[in-house]
Amino acid sequence: MKKNLYVVEIFRSIQGEGKYAGRISVFLRLGGCNLRCPGFGEKGCDSYYAVDKKYKNEWEKLNIDEIIKRIESLKQKNEDLVITGGEPTLYYREIYPLIESYSGQITIETNATIDINFKKYPKYKDVIFAMSVKLSNSGEEYKKRVKKEVIKNIAKNAEKSFFKFVINKENLNLQLKEILDITTGIDLDIYCMPMGESPEKLEENAKSVFNFCLENSFCYSDRIHIRIFGKKKGI
Ligand code: SF4
Repeated sequence: MKKNLYVVEIFRSIQGEGKYAGRISVFLRLGGCNLRCPGFGEKGCDSYYAVDKKYKNEWEKLNIDEIIKRIESLKQKNEDLVITGGEPTLYYREIYPLIESYSGQITIETNATIDINFKKYPKYKDVIFAMSVKLSNSGEEYKKRVKKEVIKNIAKNAEKSFFKFVINKENLNLQLKEILDITTGIDLDIYCMPMGESPEKLEENAKSVFNFCLENSFCYSDRIHIRIFGKKKGI
């Protein structure tokens, strides 16, 4: 029997951040994460409802066949698939049939701390990993949030991947040092986006992050869904 996975939500929307912001996508949000990020938002992680076990009774248990069916029923034409969380790579083996069967661009939004076996699961080479490696502003300790071997392995095998960092306006020099520590020697695009789980908080950081990107030749990413919908889920 196929294993059930914790599914927080499956919905069709517009990608709100990163390299592919603005593209219509079907989103699969899986529950659970190996980090906690107490530094983000009032409740820590900005996707706390997909991480905190308190919300587990709101998550559905579906096997991969049921997940694929649900996604295919929402998808129109050749739209993108975005697999997010929590930390979706916790389930990278179980979701492989979806990676193999989906026709269209797939992005996995990950904290890049779980090693992917590209030899055994080669279709992951075609996937775009949006590596949102956490900085010290996440409140996580370095050895938990930065796994350089994992990052290098993803960059080497899934060449369309990119970095996506959450930045706040305090201590920009430290954040720059941390980004360089993580990305030096890896030739992937670097996106920075303002921290903030509400439009007001986002606005507080946006201008500083914009200038930070300009000064350091990073790409700027806004967070469209937070600007328009705030903390609303399923959009
Ligand atoms: S890695 Fe992402 S999903 Fe996990 S706790 Fe941190 S912000 Fe939340």
